[in-house]
Amino acid sequence: MNRFTGKIAIVTGASSGIGKATAARLAAEGATVVLVDINADALQGAMLAGDGHIALPCDVSDEAAIKDLVAEVKRQFGRIDVLANNAGVICNHAPIMEIESDDWLRVLGVNLIGVGNFIKHVGAVMAEQNAGAIVNTASVAGLRSGAGGNIYSASKAGVISLTQTTACDLGGYGVRVNAVCPGLIETGMTKGVFDYARGAGKEEKLGQRCELRRYGHPEEIAAAIAFLASDDASYITGQALPVDGGNTAS
Ligand code: NAD
Repeated sequence: MNRFTGKIAIVTGASSGIGKATAARLAAEGATVVLVDINADALQGAMLAGDGHIALPCDVSDEAAIKDLVAEVKRQFGRIDVLANNAGVICNHAPIMEIESDDWLRVLGVNLIGVGNFIKHVGAVMAEQNAGAIVNTASVAGLRSGAGGNIYSASKAGVISLTQTTACDLGGYGVRVNAVCPGLIETGMTKGVFDYARGAGKEEKLGQRCELRRYGHPEEIAAAIAFLASDDASYITGQALPVDGGNTAS
């Protein structure tokens, strides 16, 4: 498939895990990819082979940095066709009585406000073009309790809501906004969970919470993001697609 030939795609959180797999998938289907991450060293290591792709370090919780980045992409490429809003951070599962304001601000700043500000600045470019597709990485934690801690779950529920509201803002300009809700995926974010389970000889338990009885791989989320970003999803907007092996089916 070459669904993204000639298209310019921004992928945030592209140094690792789902973002890295998404950048690779979009490039394999013909896109020129702008890889974005706060970790500049890892970003260089994640750089794609092939012509045209660029890496731009950026902290997605910094709106001024996003504004500059979007202007730079527009300057270099003239347009933006796809935005995969994927950068995210996790936090511990502390009960609400133990959560400090700084924890809220750190996680919401990246997972929710960062997504909103990227939609704001890239959405303006896409609205001018009267075309574009945005895919946000939410989580099953945003759909049900038990899959994440208080702050993380609230941030991802916020991403799902933002997906719906911004789909309404941008739909009249031909811009689609959707989300994926991954289940448990082996990435840098979940390394501690996997290391612990393997150390305890309980790796098979990691998949037991979903109907397919296995955990997922970053490439399986990247495939769903590529679908929603492509013209194959031309009549889909404002939706949050669980990609979770059936975790939310039961
Ligand atoms: P990961 O840790 O492998 O990748 C996250 C990337 O985001 C890293 O490269 C990190 O440097 C980057 N990042 C963090 N803060 C940033 C910031 N302020 N600015 C720019 N980049 C920043 O984790 P992952 O699992 O690939 O996570 C990708 C997305 O998937 C996240 O939004 C995460 O919440 C979501 N998710 C993951 C799982 C899972 O099981 N791994 C499940 C559901 C949702």
